[in-house]
Amino acid sequence: MEILQTSAELQAQTEHWRKTGRRIGLVPTMGALHEGHLQLVEAAARENDVVVTSIFVNPTQFNNPEDFRLYPRLPEADAALLGPAGCTTLFMPDVAQLYPAPSVLRFDFGTLERVMEGIHRPGHFSGVATVVSKLFHVSRPHRAYFGQKDLQQVAIIRQLVADLSFDLELVVFPTVREADGLAMSSRNRRLTPAGRATAPVLYQALQLAQALVEQQVPPARVREAVQQRLAQEPTITLEYFEVADAGTLQPLDGPEWPAGRPVALCLAAHLDGVRLIDNIVLG
Ligand code: AMP
Repeated sequence: MEILQTSAELQAQTEHWRKTGRRIGLVPTMGALHEGHLQLVEAAARENDVVVTSIFVNPTQFNNPEDFRLYPRLPEADAALLGPAGCTTLFMPDVAQLYPAPSVLRFDFGTLERVMEGIHRPGHFSGVATVVSKLFHVSRPHRAYFGQKDLQQVAIIRQLVADLSFDLELVVFPTVREADGLAMSSRNRRLTPAGRATAPVLYQALQLAQALVEQQVPPARVREAVQQRLAQEPTITLEYFEVADAGTLQPLDGPEWPAGRPVALCLAAHLDGVRLIDNIVLG
């Protein structure tokens, strides 16, 4: 596996691949890799001739400077995992490489970002869209791989690809979980042993919500049930729990469930000073 640190080198490589008919898969990450990331890389390796994995902790998508500072960075361990997973090229630029000057462009995704992560992390999706656009330009992928774990991010990137006519296919991969149900996340490394033991309650709360939705319990009562369940855990602070239309991500509020529309159950919570998100999509 080759490791590249400059956009110019990666562009030269991906241009050569395109000219020689190779199909390129891209897996953008922020590193501190876990099994969820590796399954994306393995899927990309199965479905393409070459795989670019990027590791870049993107400052413009962090609204909280402490979160950016404390984000785990493990480049050597990450590099050792990627080769065996089928990665061809690891792209690890530094901040000056992708942002030689502060970017001034700002994205506004309308109603898609006036909910959930968009409300609680102002500017986050503009930063995501900026860095993902840059990565698309330098990697020239035929397919780009993202996790359903970041459901709203997938919706934003789908809109980005449509609005800016990026010529690529988005591949969305299901959330990979620990044996106890906790969604794998680089941030899980920052949990204390006690926090790690409590964390599966977040997925259990989503499963409770799923059971209620399947019984056609109205959205307002599903929200109350999840809030009550998580209020029993003194170390968990729920930031939001939302019952939304999985396509538009807009909250469902009516007493009736819209027929034939997939439903997304999404939450963000703080535990041990670590912010975790998870979701389930039904239907
Ligand atoms: P991150 O490094 O957290 O920015 O994640 C990089 C990519 O991996 C994103 O597309 C995430 O949605 C995806 N990802 C993160 N955690 C998981 C997981 N547990 N299962 C599947 N995909 C994931």
